[in-house]
Amino acid sequence: MDTDHSPTPLHDLPPHPRNHPEGCHVSLTTKIEWSDTTWNPVTGCTKVSPGCDHCYAETFAERWRGVEGHHFETGFDMTLRPERLREPENWKKPRRIFVNSMSDLFHDDIPDSFIAEVFATMARTPRHTYQVLTKRHGRMRSLLSQPSFRDNLAAVSPHWPLPHVWLGVSVEDQKWADIRIPALLDTPAAIRFISAEPLLGPVDLAGPIVPGRGRPKLTYWLDGRPHWGPEQTDDRGRVFQKHARGPRIDWVIVGGESGPGARPMHPQWARTIRDQCRQSGVPFLFKQWGTWGVDWPLDNKGRIVAGPRRLGITVADDGTVYQPGDLSYPNGPRYGEAVRAGHDRAHLTGMYRLGKKTAGRVLDGRTWDQYPQPPHNA
Ligand code: SF4
Repeated sequence: MDTDHSPTPLHDLPPHPRNHPEGCHVSLTTKIEWSDTTWNPVTGCTKVSPGCDHCYAETFAERWRGVEGHHFETGFDMTLRPERLREPENWKKPRRIFVNSMSDLFHDDIPDSFIAEVFATMARTPRHTYQVLTKRHGRMRSLLSQPSFRDNLAAVSPHWPLPHVWLGVSVEDQKWADIRIPALLDTPAAIRFISAEPLLGPVDLAGPIVPGRGRPKLTYWLDGRPHWGPEQTDDRGRVFQKHARGPRIDWVIVGGESGPGARPMHPQWARTIRDQCRQSGVPFLFKQWGTWGVDWPLDNKGRIVAGPRRLGITVADDGTVYQPGDLSYPNGPRYGEAVRAGHDRAHLTGMYRLGKKTAGRVLDGRTWDQYPQPPHNA
């Protein structure tokens, strides 16, 4: 698996059922665009990096703390739910399942044996596709690299890594990209993905920065590190080696933050990642702008649809639209704040607190709904 990286065909899937309101690592408020359903054999977690600041799962669970008999009676405290371990076995139709949307499967407080049970259920149900997203890249790598972990699953599935289990890490900025992506590439997995949501700063997927030497020209996160494959012998007895590529990122999701206190995602951050994915033939999914969007919805006469007066919007003589608190460049009331947050002066644009629904998920005139091509079970 790890050495075969011929270009992945881009694969636009048809719309799928979007029927579950939960979600965490991706700052969800209503539904998950890239999954059919969620499966939560664990709930509860603790914060680990800036992407967790406005954790939706925590807000959601804490609303019910103390409500006797409620599923989230203990709020966001770490809770193993063994009664849910075999839930996907009851789902007869194939589903795309987001694992532990209300927790992090590789959290320190989840025993190895429990994670092994989760993997055993996944191994027993290859009709489903599982998406496991973590911010605990180190534990994921070390646990899944243990021969004993793999051996314990051998009784359930002959395949390793499991072909229908996609492993991903959250990447909110360059610092966490440089830390988590190399760990992901070192982890045995059939499909590796990153979720850059909430995207809080520019991210260059060209590869890690080498101390003292900057970013190397030869990149491999999106293309796979080139190397010589194993020695082979042709039918005349001559030994040869083919070119091979190391593991690469197979899928990239980008999205802005939504909810109270949402931090704006500069459009250029999303565009740069999209362009790098296109250049390398890596499927790209633009999930949402989040609370802050770039375009006011206009009617067919070019008028703003959202009710400018109600929202306190003013339109300057040059046509620039300002909403109290917007980030319009170069003269928006919060321009300085945007620049301090790392927004690029060179790419002036307007951003408005439109709300997740109005802001939508169109980037430069189209939706981006690409998915990786699953490997064959072999
Ligand atoms: S890792 Fe995920 S579930 Fe845990 S606090 Fe962070 S965002 Fe929430």
